Amino acid sequence: MPDSLATPPEAAPLRELLLGLGREELRARLAALGEPAWRADQVLRWRFRRGVDDWNRMTDLPAALRGRLAETLDASAPEPLRKLGSLDTTQKLLFRLRDGQLIESVLIPASPALYGERSDRRTLCVSTQVGCAYGCRFCASGLDGFSRNLSPGEIVGQVLQAQAMSGERVDNLVFMGMGEPLANYQNLVRALAILNDAELGVGIGARHMTISTSGLVPRIVDLADQPLQVRLAVSLHGATDEVRAQIMPVNRRWNVQALMEACRHWTTRKSQRLTFEFILIDGLNDTDAQAFALTRHARPLRAKVNLIPYNTVAGLEWQRPPVERQERFLQRLRDGGVDATLRREKGHDIEAACGQLRRQVMAGQKDGEDGGWKMAGGV
Ligand code: SAH
Ligand code: SF4
Repeated sequence: MPDSLATPPEAAPLRELLLGLGREELRARLAALGEPAWRADQVLRWRFRRGVDDWNRMTDLPAALRGRLAETLDASAPEPLRKLGSLDTTQKLLFRLRDGQLIESVLIPASPALYGERSDRRTLCVSTQVGCAYGCRFCASGLDGFSRNLSPGEIVGQVLQAQAMSGERVDNLVFMGMGEPLANYQNLVRALAILNDAELGVGIGARHMTISTSGLVPRIVDLADQPLQVRLAVSLHGATDEVRAQIMPVNRRWNVQALMEACRHWTTRKSQRLTFEFILIDGLNDTDAQAFALTRHARPLRAKVNLIPYNTVAGLEWQRPPVERQERFLQRLRDGGVDATLRREKGHDIEAACGQLRRQVMAGQKDGEDGGWKMAGGV
């Protein structure tokens, strides 16, 4: 056969990620190899407790078994590509996945806490998709469309890699990075179980995991019916259909009323209060009328409201309102009996900036356009 007709060599299929396997799945794999269940526990302890990602270093496993496991399972976490730090020690981490896609996580220092009740927690903001299909008009993550879902191992891997890079335990997670977590529901729920497993997983309490959603009503109901007592943050950003539909196309599928019904269902199933995220955008949703409408939604649900001054995205027209208008909006909510906060410090805006670092790096990293972030050194 002439060379030109020969079949090109196929790229080897990617091995499955160990970090995406729960204890029962790994036990089943080992049982299929004729091994006892406790071998799985050994492997998971090496990986999650001791941070070992090299099969050869799992020294209490027989060498032949290590070899067999390494053939089908990849114990790695996403590769760190870049680390950017802000003055308050918040760090943005850029990771490269095995297919070359880039994702971001943001490590937020112990104090103050974003969503947990205690203020001594180390929070990681994680991504759940590459890009986002929901196209909110204010958001950097959706600008280049949607590429793919992250697998459970890629979601869990962000946490392990952030811990390895910082040398500290992460004990609070917010799913506010790139992507819509509830649009990747199955993988999200699998990752949550591994992240929550205190003995053979990462060991983060469900109450310290906050899922943020732009409002996928049926999946909010599904997650409400799951036993894990995770927290929910709903990205509202408009208190009426008229305003919300202008900036969030998802509102045409599930309007504010449908969303509030799903939120009500949530509150019947979970003990933690839910949070409404509300970005303040100049001249769009920062009026007294919006504050009153928001109050009418939040009060009966006893929801907390997090006001976030809009974080400017290069290429998008929106601005944050002047500080006096932000304060006035906050006061209107408080006057109406709503538990509301306004985030002012830079580090608190951090999850809003998710998606921006990746875009810059993909665009060839133009100097001086990282929104005040400075390089904290390569990794
Ligand atoms: N897709 C999910 C989670 C990722 S976005 C969601 O939409 O909730 C996480 C949060 O950042 C959301 O509340 C989102 O609306 C907000 N956000 C996105 N772009 C922002 C910006 N430029 N400034 C401030 N917040 C932003
Ligand atoms: Fe997607 Fe959330 Fe950004 Fe909307 S705000 S485009 S849902 S990541």
